[in-house]
Amino acid sequence: MTTFRALVATKGETGPSLTFADFAESDLMEGDVTVRVTHSTVNYKDGLAISGKAPVVRRWPMIPGIDFAGRVETSEHPDFKPGDLVVLNGWGTGETHLGAYAQKSRIKGDWLVPLPAGLTPAEAMAIGTAGYTAMLCVLALERYGLKPADGPVVVTGAAGGVGSVAIALLAKAGWHVIASTGRAEEADYLKGLGASEIIDRNELSQPGRPLGKERWIAGVDAVGSHTLANLLSMTKYGGAIAACGLAQGMDLPASVAPFILRGVALLGVDSVMCPKPRRLEAWQRLAADLDRDKLAAMTTTIPLEDVIETGKAIVEGKVKGRVVVEIG
Ligand code: NDP
Repeated sequence: MTTFRALVATKGETGPSLTFADFAESDLMEGDVTVRVTHSTVNYKDGLAISGKAPVVRRWPMIPGIDFAGRVETSEHPDFKPGDLVVLNGWGTGETHLGAYAQKSRIKGDWLVPLPAGLTPAEAMAIGTAGYTAMLCVLALERYGLKPADGPVVVTGAAGGVGSVAIALLAKAGWHVIASTGRAEEADYLKGLGASEIIDRNELSQPGRPLGKERWIAGVDAVGSHTLANLLSMTKYGGAIAACGLAQGMDLPASVAPFILRGVALLGVDSVMCPKPRRLEAWQRLAADLDRDKLAAMTTTIPLEDVIETGKAIVEGKVKGRVVVEIG
């Protein structure tokens, strides 16, 4: 019987537990493509799954890990053949379908995106679901019709994964980027990525007024809760905030004032079930627009054995930028 190395989450009488184990290929789930996974990453959702802080895992046993890059081993899908380099984000991988922290994955070919030309598998996972979601946020603001000439853009959770990639992308596109962070010591890092101004996240994280001073025309929010409410209340007339995250909380203690008095829009961004054409667009834009030196500056590389520790650290807000996991 063929086996491969994997991080396996099981649920026993004392609750969930994680172990590195040899997993039988015959126990992989249904799919028409088998991939030799070479790289994964640690996103906030991976941290929630690993730490057990939220019920991300909904099938046991589970191999956690919501995204990977790798090489196709076998395929019955018309779009993929052995040897093709591919990227996978979401679709329930690591939640309801066996996931990325393993040397092999069997999934639906419809979920896969070809690795864009110009990106290595390691770079694709340096971007990962966090970076791809940052790109979806930028695309949402663009689709809404906002441009750098309209005013500044604010990015929350700035030193995290979504925030770091969003800053690099928006600065490259010519935006004046205001980065909101709780880590003042990372000011040089954030300026290196392209932030023009740094603000303390405490300015935004407390209960605020229905309408505040107009400070930005656009925003990328990875934080939710009071922070998102304050972002909306400080958005200039006709602006929009792309919301993708909940690092502060899932609540939204806001009023309708910014919507009905300033015509502000709230643009929801989901990466997990995002339709394929938009995924392809996001990955093409990432390959074309994301500065590789900035990507390298925000990236740390770890072996598979370190994902448990790193997963616990990310939900405590202790991970800077992006993490690549070498599967080996
Ligand atoms: P990270 O942990 O890398 O980044 C989150 C950042 O948020 C932290 O680095 C920190 O930034 C800030 N933060 C953390 N805790 C708090 C808090 N209590 N109050 C205010 N700010 C806080 O995570 P990711 O970048 O991977 O993900 C960011 C968010 O986006 C998560 O909530 C994640 O679930 C969500 N997400 C959603 C997706 C979707 O499909 N909608 C896809 C990907 C991510 P700093 O230190 O600079 O203040």
